[in-house]
Amino acid sequence: MPSSSSRISGFYRLPPLERRRRLLELAELPAEGFAALDPGALTLDVADGMIENVIGVYALPFAVAVNFTVDGSDPLVPMVVEEASVVAAASNAARMVRPGGFRTTVSAPVMIGQIQVTEIDDVDAAAASLREHAEDLLGDARRLVPRLAERGGGPTALEVRPLTRGGPDGGVLVVHLHVDCRDAMGANLVNTLCEALAGKVAELAGGRPGLRILSNLTDGRTVAVRCSVDDALLASDAAAGPDVRAAIAAASRFAELDPYRAATHNKGIMNGVDAVLLATGQDWRAVEAGAHAFAARTGTYRPLAVWRERAGGLDGELAMPMAVGTVGGALHVHPGARLALDLAGAHTAERLAAIAGAAGLATNLAALRALATEGIQRGHMALHARGLARAAGATGELIDRVADELAATGEVRPDRAREVFARLCSSHVVKDSP
Ligand code: NAD
Repeated sequence: MPSSSSRISGFYRLPPLERRRRLLELAELPAEGFAALDPGALTLDVADGMIENVIGVYALPFAVAVNFTVDGSDPLVPMVVEEASVVAAASNAARMVRPGGFRTTVSAPVMIGQIQVTEIDDVDAAAASLREHAEDLLGDARRLVPRLAERGGGPTALEVRPLTRGGPDGGVLVVHLHVDCRDAMGANLVNTLCEALAGKVAELAGGRPGLRILSNLTDGRTVAVRCSVDDALLASDAAAGPDVRAAIAAASRFAELDPYRAATHNKGIMNGVDAVLLATGQDWRAVEAGAHAFAARTGTYRPLAVWRERAGGLDGELAMPMAVGTVGGALHVHPGARLALDLAGAHTAERLAAIAGAAGLATNLAALRALATEGIQRGHMALHARGLARAAGATGELIDRVADELAATGEVRPDRAREVFARLCSSHVVKDSP
């Protein structure tokens, strides 16, 4: 897929089956490719094997955001999300960014495993002993994951962090085992290593083994995304480009000053990130936890992306942890998630991290531009109106007719949708498509 263009003009106007046809061509998937998304593709049996107490499978809309260029090639960006406007927002922002594209820097996929040791009499001596035996412990860890080492990954470093010299748990320290997990998210890999090393670590520290599990603050596994948008592309019907640029930069500064605003700013980023993570079968709670811990790492909760004015345009930059995998986890069994990775052309964790990060910066840009110009509600309500029109029974071109009337009157409510639909049907002005 990456060699094709993701610029598909009017994609949103096509009926779903025609969208599938276009994507199959572009992504060079087999004709039956989309069967992975159809009802029943995730069988009750497979679902029952994934989690406990299964009573069914739960559907959400699966879409692709278009227009993305990420590091010089064009992914179709798979998104699963219940909120109207996320996919449209991502596609619109990606079109604005398209001339230079999103440029990313993805760190090595290094996860942190924590081994806590409690009830230590002399924390400083324990730390010194562990540091002295760091190579020895790393050697033990490497021997436990020979296949990961063959793939170029494996344990890379061991760090000792004294936490307290006394208190209810006595002296406490934590050992951080850094593990390059290659294309795996790595939670199970890292947890297994921590379990295996905990006894020896506690013995060397002269304390009791405490918790041993990965940290979701994966600040060693990050993505940075940059993009640049010219004023001409920022302009809207109602606002000139330089004004939009100034308003977005001001909105960024607001988020940098105020955690209440930063939380909403970051939610706009996670709209894009989570939608990609959900589509591709990732542990989105892990990425969410990491994102917000990272945002607060200085002691003040801060925006994950900032926007700065330059002559004639705007530069955006996002930096956040991104622990994702293209092997392991749910990917063993979930056909829709595997299709999403194929559509995105994301066959490495590095590429998936780049695409998810780009989606996050895109939805952030779209939200700030909407806020800076017409306010966020207009776009939201227009999409909401289409949903209400459908719920009222409209199909085909009647959806737009009903939605346009609701939006024009500002009465975007289910009862009004039913009234407008009934009137349009009875007026015979429009013949509804079947
Ligand atoms: P996993 O247990 O399926 O392990 C990945 C497997 O892929 C390994 O066996 C590895 O050998 C193999 N592999 C094949 N090709 C590889 C390649 N190119 N690079 C790396 N490994 C390769 O999955 P995982 O990634 O260790 O763990 C992810 C799962 O753990 C997720 O389902 C997540 O929800 C869950 N989890 C998360 C947390 C948390 O975030 N706090 C805690 C526990 C479990």
